[in-house]
Amino acid sequence: MVNLLDLDLNGLQAFFASIGEKPFRATQVMKWIHQQGIVDFDAMTNLSKALRLRLKEVACITIPKVETMQTSQDGTRKWLLKLDNGNSIETVFIPEDDRGTLCISSQVGCALDCSFCATAQQGFNRNLTVAEIIGQLWLAEHTLRSEMEKDERVISNVVMMGMGEPLTNFNNVVQAMSLMMNDFCYGLSRRRVTLSTAGIVPALLRLKEQSPVSLAVSLHAANDSLRDQLVPINKKYPLNQLIAACREYVEDDNRRHITFEYVMLKDINDSPSHARDLIKLLKGISAKINLIPFNPFPQSHYQRSTPEAIERFRDILIKAGLVTITRKTRGDDIDAACGQLAGKVINRRQLNR
Ligand code: SAH
Repeated sequence: MVNLLDLDLNGLQAFFASIGEKPFRATQVMKWIHQQGIVDFDAMTNLSKALRLRLKEVACITIPKVETMQTSQDGTRKWLLKLDNGNSIETVFIPEDDRGTLCISSQVGCALDCSFCATAQQGFNRNLTVAEIIGQLWLAEHTLRSEMEKDERVISNVVMMGMGEPLTNFNNVVQAMSLMMNDFCYGLSRRRVTLSTAGIVPALLRLKEQSPVSLAVSLHAANDSLRDQLVPINKKYPLNQLIAACREYVEDDNRRHITFEYVMLKDINDSPSHARDLIKLLKGISAKINLIPFNPFPQSHYQRSTPEAIERFRDILIKAGLVTITRKTRGDDIDAACGQLAGKVINRRQLNR
């Protein structure tokens, strides 16, 4: 059985060719699934009865199952989605006045081990499939639409900022993002789909070749010794390599944008001299900076910087001409804020021990 949610446009066209159908069936079925939220072949009324029967024999449309859904006081929603073998992942919807952002997971757990992130503590199990990645958008979009009794789009932006490191699940993430931007599916513009990475340098350069999405880079420190502690992948791809790759990412293409994310950890990376190091590091790159107040989780040994320290840090960056925004903390009462997503991960590393 092929899960049609696993296929992008090329994949669907190849699938229909393999059962002796014309390529236009691919766009017809895509629209039913992604635009209309229909997963029952019998409801796809522009397909012949014979084709619907055939599809039921060889294909399925399987969406991740909802284990729980929670709503925060500020309207943020979190879904816990049940996968195979006891694993589950989290997806978060953040409503704002002028947009609705969905934060999507790319892996069950994460292998990068960043010291300030709850997902890291869960360990790593596996990459998500295309169906599991795009299924998060399908589920959130169509659930919210039917609740709000709306026909038009509710989710206007997607950020690959949930559990996992998207660039270590490269092919599936790139395919799923192509569905997000496809006009027969969700039709999001390239500016409204953002991939966030801790800095897997070779994959970042490959992303430029294969996808037009916006990029966010989790920087968090402007010198290698501190970044080695916070984001251990820095030992493999240190700052000079990462920043060179970022320059290359935006080079010769003024439609590409980078945002640098910087988690504000009290007395760790939040002093004025850290801000000045950051200015030096980013000299000559046109980029935005997003300061993220640290969100605590059980067993985290860091504290959030004080509002004064964050403001002081931001002002130094702004004075140097860097566009800097402090991210508003959303959904922390239901553990849905940045760095708090944990799901349930059957940790392979422990299994192997
Ligand atoms: N692995 C990717 C995708 C995760 S994005 C990446 O690292 O970019 C999640 C964002 O939240 C990242 O910028 C991450 O560094 C940040 N983050 C992680 N833990 C956090 C915490 N406890 N408080 C605030 N932000 C955190």
